Amino acid sequence: MYIEVEMGDVVRLRKKHPCGGMEWKVVRIGADIGLVCLKCQRRILLPRGEFNKQFKSKITTVAPSE
Ligand SMILES: [Zn+2]
Repeated sequence: MYIEVEMGDVVRLRKKHPCGGMEWKVVRIGADIGLVCLKCQRRILLPRGEFNKQFKSKITTVAPSE
């Protein structure tokens, strides 16, 4: 299953970040998906296949945290 996301989209993943955050902003799209945790601002890279597995839902109406 291919999940379509765009830069700036906010998504929710199945796995919680160690900080407790569950919402991520998409900052890079390619073979890897770059995500920034909205809670702690930490940046991670997930391979596309892993992202597809972890993806739970897209959140379109989250106010920017910065
Ligand atoms: Zn975090």
